[in-house]
Formats: sequence, C-alpha cells, structure tokens
Amino acid sequence: MTQATLTQASNSGKAVIQTKSFTPSDIDRIFQAQKKKSLELRLSNFKTRILKLKKLKNAVLKYQKEIQTALHSDFKKSPGEVDITEILPTIAEINDAIRHVKHWMRPKNVMTPPTLLGATSRIVYEPKGVCLIIAPWNYPFHLAIAPLAAAIAAGNTVMLKPSEFTPHTADVIKAMLSEVFLEDEVAVFEGDVSVATALLEAPFDHIFFTGSTPVGKIVMAAAAKNLTSVTLELGGKSPSIIAEDADMKVAAERIMWGKFLNAGQTCVAPDYLLIPEAKVDEFVKNAKETTESFFKSKPENFTASPDFCRIVNAKNFGRVSSYIEDAVKKGAKIAYGGEVRSSDNFISPTILTNVSLDARIMEDEIFGPLLPIVTYKTLDEAIHIINERPKPLALYVFTKKRSTSRYVIKRTSSGGTVINDVILHLVNSNLPFGGVNHSGHGSYHGLFGFKTFSHERSVLQTPKASIAKLMYPPYSSFVRLIVRLTTKFFV
Ligand code: NAD
Repeated sequence: MTQATLTQASNSGKAVIQTKSFTPSDIDRIFQAQKKKSLELRLSNFKTRILKLKKLKNAVLKYQKEIQTALHSDFKKSPGEVDITEILPTIAEINDAIRHVKHWMRPKNVMTPPTLLGATSRIVYEPKGVCLIIAPWNYPFHLAIAPLAAAIAAGNTVMLKPSEFTPHTADVIKAMLSEVFLEDEVAVFEGDVSVATALLEAPFDHIFFTGSTPVGKIVMAAAAKNLTSVTLELGGKSPSIIAEDADMKVAAERIMWGKFLNAGQTCVAPDYLLIPEAKVDEFVKNAKETTESFFKSKPENFTASPDFCRIVNAKNFGRVSSYIEDAVKKGAKIAYGGEVRSSDNFISPTILTNVSLDARIMEDEIFGPLLPIVTYKTLDEAIHIINERPKPLALYVFTKKRSTSRYVIKRTSSGGTVINDVILHLVNSNLPFGGVNHSGHGSYHGLFGFKTFSHERSVLQTPKASIAKLMYPPYSSFVRLIVRLTTKFFV
C-alpha cells in the first residue's frame, strides 16, 4: 500500500490536507463537475440506474478477494466474516435496489381533500443532487457501498470519503469504483479528518454520515452552514435486557455472537447486559461455553482463532482495555477473558460481572469485545437504567412473553429492536435502519435508502374551474359561511 502523502494546501489559509492523490482545489473542481452531471442524472430513467447498479454489483463480486485481503491487512478480519458482514449485505442492498427502483421512482398518487375538489395530487421522487458520503472503519466496505447504492438508485452523484483507519480497504474501494464510474458521478477521497473537514465546506445537497456521535455533531454543524440535509448513522450504548423467563442458552449464544462479531466493533453490538441477579451464573456459564465453541479455543488461545479479529488501532486498543481496569477498580469481576496484548491490539472476549453504573464502561460506547453485566430487581429498574442514558441505536429483549417485550418497547426508545436476538433487524431491507437523537437522524436500507437520497416533491394539479377561488377576497358573508361549514363538516 502506498503511504498517504501530505499535500500542501495553497497559501489560502486553508488547513493542510492529508490526502492520497488530490489537492484542495480538486474538491471544488469535482464538486462543480458533479453539480453539472447531477442535472443530467435528474432525467435518468430506471433502466439507466439499474444498469449502473448491476455494474456496481459485478465490481463488488470481481473485487471480492481484494476486499477480503484488504480487511485482513487492516484489522485481521477473517475472509469468512468479510463475506458475511461486508459482501453479502452489500450485494443484498444492491439487488434490492435493482429489483425495486422502477417502482420506487414512480410518482405516487395521493388523495386530495374535498376542499380542493377536482385537483389531483402526487409525490414525485427527485434526486437530491450532489451527495457526500462519509464512512467509518468498522465495516469499511459495506458502510461505504450500501449508502452509495441507495444514492445511485435515487439518481445522485456522490463524493465518498472512506475511513483513514482502514487504508487498505479504502484503496480497494477507490480502485473498484474508478473502474465503474467517472469522477463526475462517483469520486473517492481518501484521507484523514482534514479531508472530511475540507469536503464538509462544499454546499452538498445531502450528507450521509456514518460514524461516532461526537463527529456526527460536527458534521451536522457543518451542514447547517449550507442548510444541507443530513442523515446521521451514529452509535451509542445498545442494551440487552434478559427477562426472568428467557431461554438462557439461546440468549447467551445470540448475545455472544453479536458481541464478538468484528471483536465488538459493531454499531449495533449488544453493548451491556441487564439481567436478574439470580440468572447471572447461568448466563455466564452458557456464555463461556458458546464463546469457546465459536472460536474453538481456550481463552488463552483466542489469538489463534482466525475468526476473531483485532481492535482497529493502538488508540482504540488503549481506550477499550482501560475500561477493564477502570471497571475492576470500581468493583467489577472478570468472569471470563480479560487478556490484552498491545503488540497486535488483541483483547480477548471478556465478560465482566458486578459492574458499577459509575464505571466508564457504562458511560461510553464500548466498541470492543467486553460485555459488562448489570443486574436488576424489577423490569422497571432495567427500563430506568436505559432511559437515563441517550436513546440507543438498538435495544434487545430476551423473553418468552409477548407482554414483556411490548412492555419494554412502549416504555423505551431506540433506533431498532430485536426480540430474542441481536443485530438481525438490519438484514431486513423492509425495515428502516437508523438511530434516534444521539444514535442518529434518518434511516436507510431498501426503500428508506432511496427516500433518504431523494427529495419527495409535492405536485398538485388544479382543474380550470378551481374551488379554491372561494377563498379569494373579498371575504363576503357567503364565503365565510362556506368556510364555517367546511371547517365543521369537510376537513
Ligand atoms: P468516526 O466518527 O471517528 O469517523 C467516521 C468518519 O468521519 C471517518 O471517515 C473519519 O475520517 C471522519 N471524521 C473523523 N473526525 C471528523 C471530523 N472532525 N470532521 C469530519 N469528519 C470526521 O467514527 P469511526 O471511529 O470511524 O466509527 C465508529 C463509530 O461509528 C461508532 O460510534 C459506531 O457506533 C458508529 N457506527 C455507526 C453505524 C450506524 O450504522 N449507525 C455503523 C458503523 C459505525
């Protein structure tokens, strides 16, 4: 891989930008070219868009090996996990758009109220225009290409910035996309925060950001300067509640899978566990067995498992391992795992019991393979613990009773919820995927992605003899009578 080079910005006073192959003025040049192209793309029909999506799909399949190798180089992610979490969902998202874009694009006729008698109404889906997509490192391929597919289906041009923390994957994304698109349609900008900052100055028609909550606030503030609409796909602490009646073996298996997938570096990973005191031992016993069966290894040998990846970099390794020390200092017990090795940013699958709500592990999003267990006496106490924190991206409930899951759903808020499993809601493209407040704004996947990258334009067509004329002045007593009757009976 070529090292990122420092490109000195002009003496315009702008920040020095760390890029691969472009200068700050390239951003403006490409933005202007895309602006022009976007006017052309407004006229594109479903056949053109399907053709582009098919080319994108073929490119993903063609580059599958390179994508696997890149992710292994970036944080030792296994090819199997790359196929399951990067390639498969990306192809599924592209296929869904190929299958449905014709229908999605069609203007939708809607009812017209009697006050506009004779008029017709429809919603027209127009492309937003030039869009910026900023992607994170944790699923660096999927989280760059899935929103791109939605943006293309909706007829936009895209300037895409992959994460600098997974540079091999960013290289592959750039190579792959430059085979399919000219830069006036899709352009990739590799580089660090300064590149993102420079990009955010341009007056985009939409910004789609996936990343952390603090950076989401920066993106939203930058977008506000141009009144650009934003989709923020953020993170947070996604709780799992295990109810008294839950099947402990099933719960342990599913939670451990979700927690240790990508070594816990998943936005919708079950962050912490809420469980009745009496059930802790049974859960931990099942969780240990499951974890060992997944990685076919004793805890001290986890490093040998090809299916357990590493923490992405030394900074995150330091942050995640410090949560163990802090929690233990505040009374937590390491029920399982707890090994850390800085030489390759390895942290073993770890379960912590007796965790204090004051520990840092219960404040920050963990984003690593640590599962803190907190006990509760009543379901309301568990709900209170969740509601004291910002609204999470996901909330998981394990129970055999419908009444219990309904009770929890009605009294909490989260981007999405899975009952008796974790993470899988994002597999169904008929469900909107997104957060709420601190965990995000807006959503995507399937139709929701198409709508995110479209402007829903209202079009009302009135007949020659319009009843609305009655509302024109002068407001005679006859007109006021008609308005009074309409107010009472017809609206
Ligand atoms: P991050 O916020 O640090 O970085 C994301 C992107 O933003 C990167 O491309 C980065 O270069 C850029 N960036 C960083 N600082 C910036 C700044 N000051 N101004 C503009 N851009 C900036 O996030 P990350 O560490 O790459 O990813 C992990 C976070 O993303 C976690 O919080 C996780 O929960 C969240 N996430 C959310 C989803 C989702 O779908 N909701 C998916 C994956 C990850």
